[in-house]
Amino acid sequence: MDKVTQERIGSLHPLVRNEVTQIISEIDKELTGRAKVRITQALRTFEEQNNLYAQGRTKKGLKVTNAKGGQSIHNYGFAVDIALIIDGKTASWNMNTDWDDDGLADWMECVAIFKKYGWNWGGDWKSFKDGSHFEKEFLKTPTGKLKINNWRELIQIKQDQAGYIIF
Ligand SMILES: [Zn+2]
Repeated sequence: MDKVTQERIGSLHPLVRNEVTQIISEIDKELTGRAKVRITQALRTFEEQNNLYAQGRTKKGLKVTNAKGGQSIHNYGFAVDIALIIDGKTASWNMNTDWDDDGLADWMECVAIFKKYGWNWGGDWKSFKDGSHFEKEFLKTPTGKLKINNWRELIQIKQDQAGYIIF
């Protein structure tokens, strides 16, 4: 796992850091060819989210999200975006290439491993597909099981100063 990925895992909600470390390690074992996985985005602050939302609306550029600050699971540290780094230098979002000649598209190998750990894939969304995005679906908490992929619930939960939900 590269240093950038490691640092970004450190920005996730403390309750999923170990799991994501495990997921990335498992992916690293599976991808044995020219491609390595990198986390390109983990925690995104409400302010950063609002700036992204403005893109293609009040700011120039193409629309990249339908979520305002607080409406993305990234804002709570329960989502990651990935890219593949080819030959250690070029980022790729190609979902079909089999970079390690094992008969499976490397991207889909990543998808399978994330799903195995209970993460939803943005590539499965019906509208506004986001193939680089994964988010945790449920979280075990001291008080039970919390459905994570529902910002309307998350936004009501108290956060610490770093923006992490407190259970
Ligand atoms: Zn994302």
